[in-house]
Amino acid sequence: MKIGILGNGQLGQMLESSVTDLSDLEISLYDLRAHEEGKLNAFINEVDIVSYETENIPAHIVELLEPVEDKVFPSLKALKVFQNRLLEKNALRAAGIDTADFCAVNSLEDVHTAIETLGLPIVMKTTTEGYDGKGQFVLRTAEDAEPAWNTIGNRELIAEAFVPFLRETSVIASRDRDGNVNVWPMTENVHHEGILRYSLYPATGLSDEKAQIAERYIRDLANSLDYVGTITLELFETEQGLVANEVAPRVHNSGHWSIEGAEASQFRNHMLALSGKPLGNTDSKYPAVAMLNVIGEEDSSLKADSLSNAYRHSYGKEARPARKLGHITVVADSVEERDLTIDALVDVMPEGVWNKG
Ligand code: AMP
Repeated sequence: MKIGILGNGQLGQMLESSVTDLSDLEISLYDLRAHEEGKLNAFINEVDIVSYETENIPAHIVELLEPVEDKVFPSLKALKVFQNRLLEKNALRAAGIDTADFCAVNSLEDVHTAIETLGLPIVMKTTTEGYDGKGQFVLRTAEDAEPAWNTIGNRELIAEAFVPFLRETSVIASRDRDGNVNVWPMTENVHHEGILRYSLYPATGLSDEKAQIAERYIRDLANSLDYVGTITLELFETEQGLVANEVAPRVHNSGHWSIEGAEASQFRNHMLALSGKPLGNTDSKYPAVAMLNVIGEEDSSLKADSLSNAYRHSYGKEARPARKLGHITVVADSVEERDLTIDALVDVMPEGVWNKG
């Protein structure tokens, strides 16, 4: 079975390497930066299944996929929903999942209406193409309306009530073609300057009740869209409960720990789901794990090579400020051991970002 992945970044590469032992699967990656429609069409027609490592697929490529949509997983329908923050929020609500209150904004007048209906502060975002906090504007006073519209507006926006969250978490699942859903344990995710820096399992002090709600949410979401593949739900944890922020129709940075940490990784289960095979077990193999991103430079990550419970991944990319160059997985028999290992690797993070050691 030939599986073609749109995108050849680290996610595509980890998808490919997750199934090298399965000789009946032939994986190829397509560099989306190549602008040759003929080549892309040949690629799409040659493979039995098309998948993607990113939801940021330009509309003209989505159009090329329409005629072969039956072999696209996750479905084009799901892709289109999660490409657009308004459709995404509506799909979350339709699946019974809590979100911040929101409204569409298409003009400066709509910004003022949003302030009246949602109250301040408001987080305004472009409905498409935003990531890692790009294309966003936080409005704190009514005077922010015009600068916000002038900075990110003049296109379709979504206004969301600001969620006073305690922390950010995510839950990841795979759903196979028969509708079985396997869910990985939830992680707590810490960002710095808009970029994920580390993820922890178990999330400190997370109640079983909240973990169960997250699991129910992702099952209901995947089922509601007849989704096939790996899917990620980012959730804010608040005093009151969990509030969905956004969905990624793909494997997710906060799930990279699953390569060494879980029986089956998020990558492998994605590939198994697409190819109609049964899913692997998503339980953690260790009482505690962590994923640390390597950002901007890799020298500080080399120390992981001398630690028996740390696994360093390098994506082979040229160093650039704020660029994800690799990650480290930490596996441990206890939270204490995990946190001590992160202490030893603290130089991979900007000062003050790791504060649990
Ligand atoms: P996003 O691109 O939607 O994941 O947003 C990037 C970051 O902005 C999130 O990780 C949050 O830290 C913050 N953020 C986004 N939406 C909200 C919101 N409605 N309330 C509070 N913080 C938000």
